[in-house]
Amino acid sequence: MARTGLGFDSHRFAPGRPLILGGVTIPHDEGLAGHSDADVLTHAVIDALLGAAGLGDIGQHFPDTEERWAGADSLALLRAVVELVGAAGHRVGNVDATVMLERPRLAPHRDAIRVSLAAGLGVAEADVNVKATTGEGMGFVGRAEGAAALAVATLLDASRRG
Ligand code: MG
Repeated sequence: MARTGLGFDSHRFAPGRPLILGGVTIPHDEGLAGHSDADVLTHAVIDALLGAAGLGDIGQHFPDTEERWAGADSLALLRAVVELVGAAGHRVGNVDATVMLERPRLAPHRDAIRVSLAAGLGVAEADVNVKATTGEGMGFVGRAEGAAALAVATLLDASRRG
């Protein structure tokens, strides 16, 4: 039986930080603030996987109050979560995500992000889709105060192929 999970995350823009999305460092004059590397897209994907598996959320597994997760590479956290859901009897079917940010334009980086996430998830690139949209000047995304991401993941029974 297939299981579906939803993930959402947002982080504030801050100067002097790298902008990392889906494990890819995007050239920009500021980045996202957070306890980890603040990879908002990967965090949304992690929560989608945990949601599909019924395993809670990212904060339960990697609390931002714990020093060992300071500056954490979110792609490494993603791989740990893929192992966790695998141990629970699931394998990743597909992931679809939307990044919401006003700038920079993500189109030039979309393929690299897809490749990076697919590697972290252990699936084919065809099983990962990344979309981007702006806030049309509205709200915290539109004012470029921060970026947000939504993700949906499908998990399949690990004992079945196809
Ligand atoms: Mg986060």
